[in-house]
Order: sequence, then structure tokens, then C-alpha cells
Amino acid sequence: MDIIQIDNLHKIFADKERGNFTAIERLNLRVRAGEFLAIVGPSGCGKSTLLQMIAGLDTITGGTIGFNSPGAAISSPTCGIVFQEYALFPWKTVQANIEFGPKMRKVSKEKRREIAEKYIELTGLNGFESHYPHELSGGMKQRVAIARALANEPEILLMDEPFTAVDAQLRENLQQEILSIWERTKKTIIFVTHQIDEAIFLSDRLLVMSARPGKIREIIDNTLPHPRNQEIRTSPEFQKIERIVRKLM
Ligand code: ADP
Ligand code: MG
Repeated sequence: MDIIQIDNLHKIFADKERGNFTAIERLNLRVRAGEFLAIVGPSGCGKSTLLQMIAGLDTITGGTIGFNSPGAAISSPTCGIVFQEYALFPWKTVQANIEFGPKMRKVSKEKRREIAEKYIELTGLNGFESHYPHELSGGMKQRVAIARALANEPEILLMDEPFTAVDAQLRENLQQEILSIWERTKKTIIFVTHQIDEAIFLSDRLLVMSARPGKIREIIDNTLPHPRNQEIRTSPEFQKIERIVRKLM
């Protein structure tokens, strides 16, 4: 089943310097329910703009984004989004940050506790429930951001370069973490990155975008087996996909 249908999507920014600037041009895409779709492309090709439009956080200039059925509302309550910056509430504890979404949705206190516990466990944050964001490392903060997005139990998890601000070792751990979360929850994940190896390590399908205006260059099926560990990076198949993507970019 396709969970998202994007037809003829267009985005034009009215920019002071550039005039009417086309950020996305006639983009057609089907996102399958439960897939891990990675989007790679050069800086400025419209990756964030695309994600924001899917999340309903930015307007679309033309075309449609439908959820489940064509022509449905452009904004959907079933999207969770994780950005590059952690976007946590600094004055709230880890637990309170994670419970924030359910609280806003008027979920009962007991149920909120239960949900928070589940995602604290899933993201390995046990023992840090009453810490504040400033007491945590970058990697831990990003885990809280992921747990917070998951606590809203979104059908679709949108991630925009979420690991850019963490160091290389931590990044590998977080990649492994998100893969195992995906394997356990089978959520639909759209993951934007400009790192080719990250996209290959994580995805089922890999969408390569080209810039000016932002378009789909190619969609590549990634048949690397699951579960994956770091060793897969040195496999001939991984390197073959890497060569193909590099050539496209
Ligand atoms: P990416 O995430 O792939 O790096 P973006 O989606 O952020 O790219 O941006 C795509 C293009 O749209 C860029 O050229 C950027 O400058 C432009 N853009 C993004 N947001 C705005 C805005 N609010 N106003 C004008 N131009 C914008
Ligand atoms: Mg971006």
C-alpha cells in the first residue's frame, strides 16, 4: 500500500534576490507503508522543503500530497518530525519532553507514563528520565528528540539530517539505533541526509535528488539484507550502490 502519494508537486518561493525561485519542480513520488526511504541530494536541492510540505509545515504551490488516498488533506496528524537541531524544551526533563506530545493530546497521566516508558526503553534512555537537556550529550539529546517524536505514535516518521550535529562514532550508534527501531516498529520512515553512506546503510529505497530546480534524479532499490551491522559497509554490494549514487550526484 502507498501511504503517501505525491503528484506534480511544485514549490516556488517568492525570494527578494532571486525573484520567483522554483525549489521543487513537478515531483511525483509514492511512499510505501512501512518502508525506509532515504533522500539524498546536494545542499539546497529542496530536501527540507519536501519534508516540510509532507509534514504540512509549509505550503505547496502546485500539485498534491495525499495520504492513503489521492487528494487527501495536505497536513496529516500522523507525521512526526525530527530535525537536525534537537528542538527540545530546555526547561523540561527528558521524561517531560517525551510526554509533551501525548499531554497536548490530553492523554491521561498513567497512559503518558506508559508511553514515555516504552520509548525511553526503545531509545536506551533508561536512567536519564529526570535529566535536563543541558546535562546530556549531543547523541543523547538526539535520542530524546527521536523518543519524543515516536511518543506521538505517528504513522510516518520524517527525519531531516537528524545526525549531522553528532560526531562520527555516535552517528554510527544512532544509525544502528534507528534501524533497530524501524525493524521493531515497521514505521514508515523518510530520512533526509546528504551523506550517501548513511542513506545506503539505513534505507530500503534511495531517492537521489538533483538541484535547481529540485527534482527526482533516480530511485534506487536497496536490497542489502536485514539486520544490518557496520560490517555491511565493506560489502561489495554496499560499495556498488555507493558508486551508482556518487555517479548520479
Ligand atoms: P536542502 O534541504 O536540500 O538543503 P532546502 O529545501 O532547504 O534544501 O532549500 C531548497 C532551496 O529553496 C534552496 O535554494 C533554498 O535557498 C530555498 N529556500 C528554502 N526556504 C526558503 C524560503 N523560506 N524562502 C526562499 N527560499 C527558500
Ligand atoms: Mg535541508
